Amino acid sequence: MTFEEALAKAEQGDHLSLDASASLLAARGGNLRAMMKVADQKRAEQVGDTVTYVINRNINFTNVCIKRCHFCAFSDDLRSGSGYFLPLEEVVRRAKEARSMGATEVCIQAGLAPELNASKYLKMTETVKNAVPDLHLHAWSPEEIKHGAKQSRVSIRSFLTELKAAGLDSLPGTSAEILDDRLRRRLAVGRISTAQWIDVVQTAHELDLMTTATMMFGHLESAHDQARHLLTLRQVQKETGGFTEFVPLAFVHHQAPLFTSHEGVRPGPSTEERLAVYSASRLILGDVIPNLQVSWVKEGMSLAARILQAGANDLGGTLINESISTAAGSSHGQRQTPQALTQVAQGIGRPFQQRSTLYQPIADSSSSAWGADYGSFFDLRKDQRFAYHSTGRPSKSARVSMSQASPRR
Ligand code: SF4
Repeated sequence: MTFEEALAKAEQGDHLSLDASASLLAARGGNLRAMMKVADQKRAEQVGDTVTYVINRNINFTNVCIKRCHFCAFSDDLRSGSGYFLPLEEVVRRAKEARSMGATEVCIQAGLAPELNASKYLKMTETVKNAVPDLHLHAWSPEEIKHGAKQSRVSIRSFLTELKAAGLDSLPGTSAEILDDRLRRRLAVGRISTAQWIDVVQTAHELDLMTTATMMFGHLESAHDQARHLLTLRQVQKETGGFTEFVPLAFVHHQAPLFTSHEGVRPGPSTEERLAVYSASRLILGDVIPNLQVSWVKEGMSLAARILQAGANDLGGTLINESISTAAGSSHGQRQTPQALTQVAQGIGRPFQQRSTLYQPIADSSSSAWGADYGSFFDLRKDQRFAYHSTGRPSKSARVSMSQASPRR
């Protein structure tokens, strides 16, 4: 199918096949500019002009991980000497501090430390929720859900049910990368499979736990691989309606082992590819997943503004302690103030609105406490108070048992 035919179908709202979707994702030059215009119109029709954002804080409580995903520069081996593990009281302190800054969400994700199991994840969920009940608890990637369930020999459904009862509100749909097992094996040995990722998010949705949806692009994959990924997400959303938003995540290559020691890997996407992925995503997914989030961490504020004019409608969150992209070499900062996010919208003449994690409009909740230093990822790795070997392992007394452990399905 030609690009013109695919764009005409998208404009009419017709079903887009794999070939048509790939044709849009591969658009460059004049074709790209034409597609961005249509995507911007579709964004206005599907979700309006308002640029939304959430005030949140990331708490990546450990970088110790048993996996060695080739694209990941965040994790450390448990014997590396630069592993950290925040004790539960520090996680709670950070959540309370975020609330005092006006945050409405904490996002908790981390490495797969060997001692983490379902009980530990449940304990952290319950403790944070009890300490700050009005914070939306957005936590645990599908890979972490799989890890906790496997370590404790419980089913995904049982584990998610327990997490929800303990206070989990929603989950990040990370660890998706590209939903193609052939590529996943090259990106990360032993990574959660496509079927397992879909199983975790579908099960969460069935339990009324919403998730985000993501795609990492600009590494090994082709436009056809991207198209297959988007159509898979589309199918899941049509079945469950459980995705709050789609977040394309550009591969950050600088420190990623995938780029530094593997041949044939692209150094992240070009600017044109970034614009193409965002605008094509609006056309392929916008009728079923209306919220398309631009990641300022990956794109920077200036390109984020352009992407908001190419199909995106959301700027994500303040983050406060971004670690994953920073570790990989992203230079766009670890936090943004609410004012900085609203200025991006103002700069392109669009209204802005603070939102909840689930995209409900909420009144400005930011405090004046944003001038302080809330720590950097690199300092954290050197902070002996949180060194993995000395204080990181949760004590035996911190363990809780699952009340309804059931066999894995
Ligand atoms: S991506 Fe996640 S699972 Fe993979 S190495 Fe990094 S922290 Fe570990």
